[in-house]
Amino acid sequence: MVRTVGGREVESFALEVVPSTSCPVCANPGIPVTHLVMRAALPREFHREFAREGFLFCPTPSCPLAYFDNAESAYVHKDELRVLVGRKTAGPSAPVCYCLRVTEGQVMEEVAVKGCCRTMDEVAAATGALLGKACHIVNPSGKCCGDEVREAILKALRTAGFSDDAPEVLKLLEEDVDHCRSHCGLGEAD
Ligand SMILES: [Zn+2]
Repeated sequence: MVRTVGGREVESFALEVVPSTSCPVCANPGIPVTHLVMRAALPREFHREFAREGFLFCPTPSCPLAYFDNAESAYVHKDELRVLVGRKTAGPSAPVCYCLRVTEGQVMEEVAVKGCCRTMDEVAAATGALLGKACHIVNPSGKCCGDEVREAILKALRTAGFSDDAPEVLKLLEEDVDHCRSHCGLGEAD
């Protein structure tokens, strides 16, 4: 059992059996995030104590823990954040891109309802997803929203009746999920 910063008790593995870099609730490896990501995700009353380095984000969709710092026994539940965690939220209101607040429902609308978009560039042009400049900070995972956007397009294509071996689906699976780097001027070149 771990106790979160907001006082929730969450069933967990014994801390001795999970590596310090893994989530104690689901045992999957975490993704290190910066204090800037924590500051953007946490409500103000937690900034002083927890908007610091040392936390890892848990990416498991079914796991309720958002962040953990096993060394300091500090844990943050997804419902203790200022934002919904897209990959841990089901349904049309799930955020897929944080800069411009694009939701899964908007992507579904463009791809499955209007049928006007198939690729990440087309969805970016239609919704504004991936065109912001602060994904790496305002996405609670501390990473580009490309992963979430691609997942939402895939889901929408399936809803629209595309099979897993349809050319549109295969093409999408080959797209670079670090898509917003080029738009944000964060490219690896230089
Ligand atoms: Zn987890």
